[in-house]
Amino acid sequence: MSERSRLSESSAFGGETFWLGGKIVLITGGARGIGRAITLELARSGADIAFTYRSSAQLAESLASEIKAMGRRVIPIEADATSMKSAVEVIEKVVAEFKRLDVLVNNAGITKDNLLLRMQEEDWDSVIQTNLKSVFNYTKAAARTMMGQRYGKIINLSSVVGIKGNAGQSNYAASKAGIIGFTKSIAKELASRNILVNAVAPGYIDTDMTAALTEEQRKAVIDTIPLKRVAKPEEVAKVVRFLASPDSDYITGQVISVDGGMSV
Ligand code: NDP
Repeated sequence: MSERSRLSESSAFGGETFWLGGKIVLITGGARGIGRAITLELARSGADIAFTYRSSAQLAESLASEIKAMGRRVIPIEADATSMKSAVEVIEKVVAEFKRLDVLVNNAGITKDNLLLRMQEEDWDSVIQTNLKSVFNYTKAAARTMMGQRYGKIINLSSVVGIKGNAGQSNYAASKAGIIGFTKSIAKELASRNILVNAVAPGYIDTDMTAALTEEQRKAVIDTIPLKRVAKPEEVAKVVRFLASPDSDYITGQVISVDGGMSV
């Protein structure tokens, strides 16, 4: 069996289905929140894992132990996603260790909310650098390896806010809308090399990022969600797993909303 068909095959073993058996995956900001749920979901699906973290060293350590206990290989890497130099070093480290990179999940993100007239220039810059430039950094750094393999999947975390906008989040909305334009453009650029690029746009997910909302704000947001509930990070992770798996091999340049109908 060729390397490519081995990699693109889901294999059944011990009663479980390994959708991603033999795949090498890198997740940015993997230690916490949605990133952690994605990392665990992809490891459970059979992938070997590299993930980055910036400040959550302890959570990174516990996550690495959990993944090792599943019998997967794992490399936690401390790296600031805003730095291109660091992104290049991360990809080099992953390829040196695992010899290839099949799936990149650009997940790292922050919010610094404020109304336009109160928004400081540094709040604009840091949100754009962390949420949007990081996606450019890692996609560019990973593209050469994926082009050489003639195989790759890139999954970018956008947001319902990038689709609809939101008062008080112009920096965040611009970064997440930017990710959608970037995803569609790179999907066109890299399709001939069998590299598929998609975005996932979550709605309201229960993580540290949304924990800052007051109970009143939380109720007001839930009111706007047709399914009338907040989602768990695992519900986003399952969609990322689909986009990482061979089941989505004819899907590229798409934005998949995981938002309980919020964007409709
Ligand atoms: P959290 O605040 O819970 O986690 C943010 C993650 O990003 C952490 O792992 C953090 O790493 C990492 N991160 C932040 N800055 C950097 C950086 N400079 N370099 C490397 N890593 C960094 O957020 P969520 O899990 O909720 O969000 C994950 C993604 O999903 C984000 O892109 C977010 O915009 C998007 N999203 C979230 C929604 C939600 O409702 N929660 C809705 C729509 C989209 P560390 O802890 O190590 O610093």
